[in-house]
Amino acid sequence: MRFNLTPLPALRDNYIWLLANERAAVVVDPGEPSPVLRALANRRLALAAILITHHHQDHMGGAAHLAATYGCPVYGPARESIATVDRPLHAGQFAEIPALQASFRVLDIPGHTAGHIAYHGHNIVFCGDTLFSAGCGRLFEGTAAQMNQSLGKLAALPDATSVCCGHEYTVANLRFAQVVEPQNREIRKYAEQAAERRRQNLPTLPSDLARERLVNPFLRCREPAVIAAAAKHAGHAPRDEIEVFAVIRSWKNTFT
Ligand code: ZN
Ligand code: FE
Repeated sequence: MRFNLTPLPALRDNYIWLLANERAAVVVDPGEPSPVLRALANRRLALAAILITHHHQDHMGGAAHLAATYGCPVYGPARESIATVDRPLHAGQFAEIPALQASFRVLDIPGHTAGHIAYHGHNIVFCGDTLFSAGCGRLFEGTAAQMNQSLGKLAALPDATSVCCGHEYTVANLRFAQVVEPQNREIRKYAEQAAERRRQNLPTLPSDLARERLVNPFLRCREPAVIAAAAKHAGHAPRDEIEVFAVIRSWKNTFT
């Protein structure tokens, strides 16, 4: 790979993604400045751009400080108002980063927030709080239908796409996934791997889409086992994929 891709732990359980070559870097969703400042200083990198996926503080709280320090552009969703964003992007547009010879296409993925976007390019997707490993974001500003469609867009990317999401939630997500699909051996295997990574204090991310298709209940709403689990939980047969999604999403909200 031409780039070095690193999740920088931030705040409680966020990741700020750092994508770099030998000289320059881009960061995605800097919720706070300090982990970025440290990483850039250690590796003697210049900050070429900041990418933001949605307006929540834990994804953009460090952007103003970093942009002022490095004088770099801040890309973000055109449909959300984020004061520090000076390069608003719509679906289909590109975040071009000449210093890295990189370019990321914007996908509209509403559901967690109304204007949430993802950045896709170079076999990587930065998907913020929409797709998590083995889970998905909460529906704060969108509907189940929107979120299901957004996840479908992400799931349509190639198998080898690295999934770079905003939080380290994998172990807890897999606990729920195992309840939804107790017979799924991929989930069981991945749960052991992920728990071991966390015991060593290593990130479980990035994941990839091939794996997510096998373990993520929110990408599996057409699988008979997931439909059956949703039916059992709801007490009636869901009428379509969107209702399967809605049932497991709200089930997850109360799952501990
Ligand atoms: Zn969020
Ligand atoms: Fe978040």
